[in-house]
Amino acid sequence: MLVFSNAYELQAELPTSFSSLGLVPTMGALHQGHISLVERAIKENSHVIVSIYVNPTQFNRVEDLEQYPRNIDKDLETLAPYSNKIMVYIPTNEDLYPEGIKVKTYAFGTLTQYFEGAYRPGHFDGVATVIESLFTRINPTKAYFGEKDFQQVLVIKALVKLLSLNIKIISCPIIRAKDGLALSSRNALLSKEHLEKACVIYNILQKITENRGHWNVQQMRAYFFEKIEALSGFKIDYFAVADPKTLTPEEELIPSKNYRIFIAVYAGTIRLIDTIELRRK
Ligand code: AMP
Repeated sequence: MLVFSNAYELQAELPTSFSSLGLVPTMGALHQGHISLVERAIKENSHVIVSIYVNPTQFNRVEDLEQYPRNIDKDLETLAPYSNKIMVYIPTNEDLYPEGIKVKTYAFGTLTQYFEGAYRPGHFDGVATVIESLFTRINPTKAYFGEKDFQQVLVIKALVKLLSLNIKIISCPIIRAKDGLALSSRNALLSKEHLEKACVIYNILQKITENRGHWNVQQMRAYFFEKIEALSGFKIDYFAVADPKTLTPEEELIPSKNYRIFIAVYAGTIRLIDTIELRRK
């Protein structure tokens, strides 16, 4: 497998003309969620780059950055079945941040005002900074992101507009474990007990979506709180129902409109996020 730590060396490996280049940015500790993006990128592009980089500027808590799972050898094993179809880019800090690890600031309006934007101050500036750097270095035709981080997908689409880049952002569905828990690198940090209990989050979200038309937002929230608070060691960061385009929270739902639920929950010290479409009935 071709593995690079330097973008210029990687660029040099690409043919002078190719039909399309897909980029799958990741922070490693790869799981089936990441692989779904890689497989889609392989299907849709002549060349694919998978990047692995734990971006320091998007972590708002030092402990979170320090404990984030890292295992490059295992990641390369996970990617081995795709080795003749992808190139792997594992940049150094100097390669992505040649002027030192500094975060840029962006104006994304309501897209970063709530949820992860509000609860993780500076997070999306960090994400946008590293993605801008990756996009500038790689110049992909298409870039693949998961709807698990739905807010991030909209922020990246806004970034592409803001910078007038000619990159198509492909948003890919959430991959879940059999019990419904959204796959996440952070799941590896959960205790056995919390891992078993965490599937409840998806069950609750499903139950709420089934009751669209019967429950108002306050009842949805009350149900979520009741069920999560019954789990020892679990704590809610937020629960919100929002417009899926502007990401503004709504308390009164218009029956003909689709919305989206956004949640963040602590299981012990590990923070989990999830999201689900709240379709009109
Ligand atoms: P991360 O390594 O967590 O930064 O994630 C890299 C990319 O994989 C992001 O676009 C995520 O949204 C996406 N991703 C992570 N988990 C999942 C999942 N369970 N299903 C689909 N995409 C995911």
